[in-house]
Amino acid sequence: MPSFNDITMLFLSKIFFINFILLILRYVFFSGIAYSIFWVWKKKYFEPHRIQNKFPEPQKIKSEIMYSISTFIIFALVGVGIYVARNTGYTKIYLSISDYGYPYFFLTIVLSILLHDAYFYLFHRLMHHKLLFKHIHQVHHYSTNPSPFAAFSFHPLEAILEAGIVPLIVITFPIHPLAILALLLFMTALNVLGHLGYELYPSNFVSNKWTNWNNTSTHHNMHHQKFTCNYGLYFNWWDKIFNTNHQNYSDDFIRITKNRDEILNSSKVNSNSKLTHSL
Ligand SMILES: [Zn+2]
Ligand SMILES: [Zn+2]
Repeated sequence: MPSFNDITMLFLSKIFFINFILLILRYVFFSGIAYSIFWVWKKKYFEPHRIQNKFPEPQKIKSEIMYSISTFIIFALVGVGIYVARNTGYTKIYLSISDYGYPYFFLTIVLSILLHDAYFYLFHRLMHHKLLFKHIHQVHHYSTNPSPFAAFSFHPLEAILEAGIVPLIVITFPIHPLAILALLLFMTALNVLGHLGYELYPSNFVSNKWTNWNNTSTHHNMHHQKFTCNYGLYFNWWDKIFNTNHQNYSDDFIRITKNRDEILNSSKVNSNSKLTHSL
């Protein structure tokens, strides 16, 4: 007859397995779809949007996928840890939104995003310390020309730190599981955008005061190319405060997007003139 511990272990293994499958599905949905559209299906159409003209070798993309799978094993284990902590009363997770109301629910989503942004900037800068970089963070920088599959390509020790934001949040303030889900989906979407390899934002994005506090795909792409700048995740204010934006960031962004717009406009003019000639 199985003991109580055997049953608990079996149940926790099931939770681990479900977590792992959901993480893979999220990866396939966000990174897989972005890769299929931009890098395969509409590759020609989006060519003017490329941040770096070259494409990485297939070996690099394979490595991004393998390290991401190892990251999901760590994330799934952290998920099991949070489940156990919740059931033994160590977290502030609550299950009924009405306990704190909708304004608080939405506030916790915003707060989690802000906290994650600060947390990421701090530990990302630590990761660039000579020793930590050499032994841990170098794995992520193996991609100097990242694909959307690089979004979760981390050394296992870095994956633990990456996941650390969720335990930190759930022990700090009351939060509903759907608010955590919103954070994780927001994080995945922006993380994939940062590793997309294509700049989609308008050319005035970094000069406009209403948008320039957000990071761009070019911003993180430059981090992968140049290493010691552009450490931020969602927002640009930490890089501004600590003066860690690359000195050419704005100029490069404007050059890339203006060049893109010129190519797009000239191809529009060409196709219009062909149409007029054929009429
Ligand atoms: Zn990256
Ligand atoms: Zn880095």
